Amino acid sequence: MTSISGTGAIRVLPERVRNQIAAGEVVERPASVVKELCENALDAGARELVVELEEGGAKLVRVTDDGAGMGPEDLALAFVSHATSKLAEVDDLAHIATLGFRGEALASIGSVARARIVTRRAGETSGWSIEDEGGRLGAVVAAGAPLGTSVEVRDLFYNVPARRAFLKRTATELGRSLDVLQRLALAQLGTGFVVKHDGGRVFDLEREMGLAARVRRLFGAELAEALVPVEVEAGEVRLAGLLAPPRFSRSDTSRQMWFLNGRPLKDRVLARCLQEAYRGFNDEKRQPVAFLSLWVPPAAVDVNVHPTKSEVRFRDERRLFPFLLSALRAAVARTDMATPGGKLLAPFAHRPGGVWPVARSGERPPIEELEVREAPPALGSPPGALPTPEPASLVPGLLPSAEGRIGAVLQVADTYLVRELEDGIEIVDQHALHERVTYERLKAALRAGALEVQRELVPELIELARSEVHVLEEHLPALEKIGIELALFGPTTVAVHGLPALLKRRAGPRLVREIVAALADGEKLPGPEQLLDHVVHSMACRRSVMAGDALAPEEIRSLLEAAARLDHDQTCPHGRPTRVRLTLADLERAFHRR
Ligand code: ADP
Ligand code: MG
Repeated sequence: MTSISGTGAIRVLPERVRNQIAAGEVVERPASVVKELCENALDAGARELVVELEEGGAKLVRVTDDGAGMGPEDLALAFVSHATSKLAEVDDLAHIATLGFRGEALASIGSVARARIVTRRAGETSGWSIEDEGGRLGAVVAAGAPLGTSVEVRDLFYNVPARRAFLKRTATELGRSLDVLQRLALAQLGTGFVVKHDGGRVFDLEREMGLAARVRRLFGAELAEALVPVEVEAGEVRLAGLLAPPRFSRSDTSRQMWFLNGRPLKDRVLARCLQEAYRGFNDEKRQPVAFLSLWVPPAAVDVNVHPTKSEVRFRDERRLFPFLLSALRAAVARTDMATPGGKLLAPFAHRPGGVWPVARSGERPPIEELEVREAPPALGSPPGALPTPEPASLVPGLLPSAEGRIGAVLQVADTYLVRELEDGIEIVDQHALHERVTYERLKAALRAGALEVQRELVPELIELARSEVHVLEEHLPALEKIGIELALFGPTTVAVHGLPALLKRRAGPRLVREIVAALADGEKLPGPEQLLDHVVHSMACRRSVMAGDALAPEEIRSLLEAAARLDHDQTCPHGRPTRVRLTLADLERAFHRR
């Protein structure tokens, strides 16, 4: 191929150079090597994987498996590009069941590192090995080897200084490699994993361990115990996994894992679906924690859109997503949404040698000690500082109610309600709780078709941009169904003819602007359900008691009673907590009684 003669300027690149270029797509960093080698091992039917890393994987990645192994002829082709045992025809692409299929990974890796494979097939007495040093392929030679395959990749990018310069600190590369391994280990139940770094063990997962046990080993008991299972099936589509309560949500997605037909993937559409499922229970800037497997027929999904196969395209999104969303949403509703106050007290608890505890006693510490921990929430400076607080007052009228649920309540700074529970105390943010109560009321009224609409004799006029009017126009019938009656009045003017009576009078213009803004930056048109939800959401805020409003004892009572009747009263519709709970055990720890 390289024997081009003559003086022309165009020439076919030598295979070695082609591989190095392809390596730019497939091999970004040590974590990519970890991923490709492990996927190959899994494709070979491995039941046990040992992964050894040095310097985060930059110096060494070695993956040893007990899979099928290779004979000498196959081994000779393993480092050759577009050599694969997994795909023969383009037609096969529609039915891919293996993790790899492009036959690119080993050729790419071998072109930018010092790689070596040692392997032995079942039933054969001798093993074989081959080396690929920066694209210089050696011969297949006999070698003693246990059953299975061991692929070793040393000195990644040793011959591509520009790429090597982009590698980050060991801790960062290790973090990425471990992220890949965790995702694979949670996707591939039924396979055991042993992971070592610089000679020390990072984690091991026995083959028999199920998803919950694996999450517990990797991320600790506190999370594992709070998880709620999801399991639904419709035709050939199946969703199963575990979801965490909203309070475990994080600023990053490192604990949000999707697996599609056993393959870990980071798909923006699935991530958005999950975010949507938590809406109203989760701070929208935080990422829910979940471990979810989705099985669809291979023909229903295109995995060949990206060389690392971490993004996919679903062929029938319109039917798939409503199905996922309703299953996820139901599961989120089953989580325990209470906000424990014990965490807030932790900094005051007496702990020799450290303030912010990491490991729990009797439990292997979660593996990501390397990770930057989030700072503990600051106490004493809530956002939107309070006006000069009124002295705390005991609300007199609040003796136990008919249900016996509401005892004495202390109102603090016209904002917080403190009350006794059976096992401790609870602090309620009255504003947040009132938002939730109003939200649920409005939603119930809308659903029941019992929403009263207040019509205006003289419609209020709202000025908008032309583009906004245009966006709004499409939604007028849908908005009318939910009690918001608007009419176009001019190219940049909209008239408000009617609004739900529950809404404060002056809320109209603001509400319309919010709706327009939401419609304008949404990527696609929301369905009536979503629109309703959004509107109800905004209305709840407009209606609510603002922080600083004094509540009469009777109002406090009816607020707490109304909340007690709800299914979900632990967060406001925006996902902020409405209640923080301190158990007696928390208090004992805070006062060093235990
Ligand atoms: P792909 O996985 O896309 O087929 P790779 O370059 O990753 O391409 O691997 C090339 C081929 O080498 C595979 O198709 C497979 O036949 C063989 N191979 C690689 N790793 C292993 C392994 N651990 N055990 C058995 N065979 C392997
Ligand atoms: Mg592969």
